[in-house]
Amino acid sequence: MKKILVVGAGFSGAVVANSLAKTGRYLVEVIDERSHIGGNCHTEKDPDTGIMIHKYGPHIFHTSNEVVWDYVNRFDRFIPFVNRVKSVYNGQVYSLPINLHTINQFYGKAFSPAEAIDWIKEKGDKSILDPKTFEEQAKKFVGEELYKAFFYGYTKKQWGCEPADLPASILKRLPVRFSYDDNYYNDRFQGIPENGYSYVIEKILTHKFITVKLNEKFSNESRSNYHHIFYTGPIDAFFSFHHGRLGYRTVFFKEYRKDGDHQGNPVINYADESVPYTRIHEHKHFTPWESFDKTIYFEEYSKETSEVDIPYYPKRLEGDLKILKLYEEEVEQIKNVSFLGRLATYRYLDMHQIIEEALECAERYLEKDVPV
Ligand code: UDP
Repeated sequence: MKKILVVGAGFSGAVVANSLAKTGRYLVEVIDERSHIGGNCHTEKDPDTGIMIHKYGPHIFHTSNEVVWDYVNRFDRFIPFVNRVKSVYNGQVYSLPINLHTINQFYGKAFSPAEAIDWIKEKGDKSILDPKTFEEQAKKFVGEELYKAFFYGYTKKQWGCEPADLPASILKRLPVRFSYDDNYYNDRFQGIPENGYSYVIEKILTHKFITVKLNEKFSNESRSNYHHIFYTGPIDAFFSFHHGRLGYRTVFFKEYRKDGDHQGNPVINYADESVPYTRIHEHKHFTPWESFDKTIYFEEYSKETSEVDIPYYPKRLEGDLKILKLYEEEVEQIKNVSFLGRLATYRYLDMHQIIEEALECAERYLEKDVPV
């Protein structure tokens, strides 16, 4: 059997490992430098309260891809869950993503959908034809006032730079609606795994031809021991940063515990620049089918990623993209390594996109690596 190394035990690595192992043609070794599987999706029950904690921040599974939805549902029951986020701005609580309720709350109106469309159209900056930056995208589609209230401060805190320096694609993640639909996502399927994400990933990794080694760092010297490597770590780290480091934002949390309910919602964003954190997540609200007397909540803070921090959000500023291109040119030259996932491709991907790409990556590999 051919030996395969998968670097990283998050969704990307687990899905690829599973696809290869089940052909019966490969022995797959999965390594991860952390002490747990699951990457940044890792979940764990708090021993004191029994609340399922998303250790690296809130994760809500959503997709419109039926293949991906069916895939994850094979490993755990995904309980339907609609993510409804609120935003606190200037002492008031608003509905997110921007919808008819937000517009009516913000302007003190009782607009119908058609009236709100006209109103926001009037507010939008008509001089921007093809928005390239986050700021242009916001000013064109929601206008200066809503932009300044809900996006400017939050984004500056989250990304540590002016929204005018960020790509429009970041804002395009969020819908703007002229109805009272306050579902944070537009996707057909949405849910939370009953037993947490680490359980799902553990199930994906459970196969007689897969071994998992934790606390194990990847070394380029081991490459010759394997027929092929699937690498899901940071692309710049693979090349020992010799073209420089790619910019990431990282987040850190301050944990609080108390009796009862802290905020009555899983996630509340804080849009004011003067509030140092971006959002508060209260994890027991991600499992509304359970009930707890106590609660745990986290203030989330964002900062630049130093060498010891875990990278979260790829910044993709102009300088980053130049460095990325140099690494990508080197990737082209390497035949026995596939790069996949958020860190290895340096893209802002969600779990469902990661799974879709990992399934495709394995399929492409298996098509080429035909048995003789
Ligand atoms: N964003 C914002 N205000 C909000 C929520 C989001 O300005 O209340 C911006 C911010 O720049 C953020 C981006 O929209 O990085 C994408 O938001 P999303 O909720 O998808 O971010 P994630 O949950 O991945 O951190």
